[in-house]
Amino acid sequence: MMNRRQWITGSAAVAASVASLKASQGTGAKKPVVISSANGLAACAKANEMIRSGADTLDAVIAGVNIVELDPNDTSVGYGGLPNEDGVVELDASVMHGPTKRAGAVAAIQGIKTPSKIAKLVMEQTTHVMIVGDGALRFAEAHGYQKEDLLTEKSRTAWLVWKQSLHTPGGFNNWVSMQQNLEQETRNPPMKQLRSSFPQVSDEVLAWAWDMAVHPTYGTINCLGLNEKGEISGVTTTSGLAWKIPGRVGDSPIIGAGLYVDQEVGGAGSTGVGELNIRVVGAHTVVESMRRGMSPKEAVLEVLKRVSKLYNDDKKLLDQLDIEFYALRVDGEHAAGSLWGSHRSYKTYSVNDGGESRHEPCVFLYGKEG
Ligand code: ASP
Repeated sequence: MMNRRQWITGSAAVAASVASLKASQGTGAKKPVVISSANGLAACAKANEMIRSGADTLDAVIAGVNIVELDPNDTSVGYGGLPNEDGVVELDASVMHGPTKRAGAVAAIQGIKTPSKIAKLVMEQTTHVMIVGDGALRFAEAHGYQKEDLLTEKSRTAWLVWKQSLHTPGGFNNWVSMQQNLEQETRNPPMKQLRSSFPQVSDEVLAWAWDMAVHPTYGTINCLGLNEKGEISGVTTTSGLAWKIPGRVGDSPIIGAGLYVDQEVGGAGSTGVGELNIRVVGAHTVVESMRRGMSPKEAVLEVLKRVSKLYNDDKKLLDQLDIEFYALRVDGEHAAGSLWGSHRSYKTYSVNDGGESRHEPCVFLYGKEG
């Protein structure tokens, strides 16, 4: 148990760390910085451009992720996202506005291409933080949005391929544990069988669809933006885990898990297996670690250690899990981290601090050969 002396020393250290962050903000005129998951190069560019022309940081990051939400070729977010077990696209999104300390979220919303905008409406127009399912759709419709079909030919094909994959031992099944799924042996795509079922579809799309069928976690965009005054906001938006049970809610709309922003410290977000993140309240954990004085890099590694502990550091199981954390501190320092990587092959995240967006390497908890 912590004694009084340790407690006083601990809280003094936190106060000193926050004071030093505040002082760094006080020096002001930092250059605007926007970071996001790897799929957000265009989103970061858009958000930074808007911040530079004076837009609010939340409006800027939302406009950035709208590009990805509306892109039918990104099958992990918004329109064209991979659907649930029933073949229906259900979206999750959350927003946090640092300067006013407000948050909004929607979960399992159907038929709306840009759920991040609805999350902001929840934040601005209601006393609530989160609205889900049919209520979220009706709330969007009340604000003039129209329900649309979010399934594309590509995502519909992928859903049908997943249905077929359930006949094979490699098929991903929501009704057993993640561990059981991970222990399944996944075969190469049965191309002959797939070609005869989907004669119109190219081999390339079929091979991709098979990969999605047996490894369904993929995507999401988290985007965090900081302006020259040190104001910070964030957004996370996703179609969630492909083939999920209808109504399943991931980490993305959960404030503290998929997104957390504290104007005194910074912001954090996550992509990957939401069920892992919710259990470590990842984004909040990252921000709290930074509050205690860790750098963004140390903070994302710290939360990855907690994820690893969920599987008792069993590297064989962890090897197949995908989860990333992103952190942007109010002084402009940033980092992102994933469970696995090597110095030749590592995950990346997107950064724009003026000019062209670029990919920067994620730090990783466990090294791999090669
Ligand atoms: N985190 C998202 C979820 O669990 C999915 C993802 O990022 O791939 O819903």
